[in-house]
Amino acid sequence: MQYTEIMIRYGELSTKGKNRKDFINRLASNVQKVLHDFPDLKIQTHHDRMHILLDGTPFEPVNDRLKLVFGIQTYSPVIKTEKSLEAIEKTALELMQATYKAGMTFKVNTRRSDHKFIYDTNQLNQMVADYLYNHMEGLQAEMKHPDMVLLLEIRQDGAYISNQLLHGAGGMPVGTAGKAVMMLSGGIDSPVASYLAMKRGVNIEMVHFFSPPYTSEKALAKAKELTSILAKYSGRINFIEVPFAEIQETIKEKLPEGYLMTVQRRFMLRLADIIREKRHALAIFNGESVGQVASQTLESMAAINDVTTTPVLRPVATMDKTEIIAKAEEIGTFDLSIQPFEDCCTIFAPPRPKTKPKIDKAREYESRLDVDGLIERALAGVKVTPVYPGQSFLDDLAEEDADLL
Ligand code: ATP
Ligand code: MG
Repeated sequence: MQYTEIMIRYGELSTKGKNRKDFINRLASNVQKVLHDFPDLKIQTHHDRMHILLDGTPFEPVNDRLKLVFGIQTYSPVIKTEKSLEAIEKTALELMQATYKAGMTFKVNTRRSDHKFIYDTNQLNQMVADYLYNHMEGLQAEMKHPDMVLLLEIRQDGAYISNQLLHGAGGMPVGTAGKAVMMLSGGIDSPVASYLAMKRGVNIEMVHFFSPPYTSEKALAKAKELTSILAKYSGRINFIEVPFAEIQETIKEKLPEGYLMTVQRRFMLRLADIIREKRHALAIFNGESVGQVASQTLESMAAINDVTTTPVLRPVATMDKTEIIAKAEEIGTFDLSIQPFEDCCTIFAPPRPKTKPKIDKAREYESRLDVDGLIERALAGVKVTPVYPGQSFLDDLAEEDADLL
């Protein structure tokens, strides 16, 4: 018994016309990207379904990738057969024999988009179930909560039979909502915010501030590796690193301690915004959660956000830390996020940052600095690296260390 294809049901496809076409085309191209190393697969798109023809490729390894792709509501591995009762019954029996375990309950559930087919859904449910009873021992039917549903779909071009209805990642295909930059640290929150942004169809590029020699190569590799985990949901993500040490040193030297954090954050946001514009992106995302720490009170957000009118979106703004952690575990970033490589903010964090900074004061202190020069020099050190799904960066570093010994 071998599945012949995968039938995909689209996600939140309330839109019509051109948007619908964009959704479907984008989904097809995202699916193609994550499955690029399976040469025998063929993707076909229709207005209400997408099909991946397996042509001998086993379902499981394809499924491991497919389940992460946004824009898929549900999907099923199916066997396609001719639209005759005999062929349907024979295939249904094969599939049941291969997957039904003793003691399970089951039912047959038919859908029909070909309304001219000689049998209606009730008749088909009944006839196929009867056929299975006559050819298998010990079957138990259960209409309300069966352990397994044999799905039968009668479409124009054939009959499709499956034993599985799987939940996809939901959301919208990455790219349908346009492009944004994501401020990615090495912490727990910003990877979760990245995931949530991508889930709404946003194509993100990571902006990461690092401060050599105060932060190690490991901190940078960690942020890249977090990006490679997130790239499993979207395909390649560009990683943009921005040197931040000179700005931090200058602020620390020249400004009162209570405003170190606020002014540092204002610089980060300014730089992120300039990079956003250069990269033709429309918005900035970050991992702030209201009230979590001093820099994330509403007063702080207002004082920091003062430097731009670009939308700054905060997907985890209203989530509790425990909820963010649960999500981080689910998406596979948590274990890496809690690795203790200090990032630039930990090192230059003032012991007593103001929880209610004033916008006027932040502006006034900042005006004592050569803002343009600092920004210009940081931008001169920007480096863009494409990061691919599952690529490793920390391991490579460990190997380099070993070579040096
Ligand atoms: P995270 O877990 O995402 O690090 P956090 O709760 O530790 O968040 P902060 O360190 O105060 O919070 O950072 C708040 C947000 O600012 C982060 O979620 C991220 O979006 C951005 N940010 C902080 N540090 C960096 C950095 N080094 N590079 C890029 N963005 C950063
Ligand atoms: Mg942090």
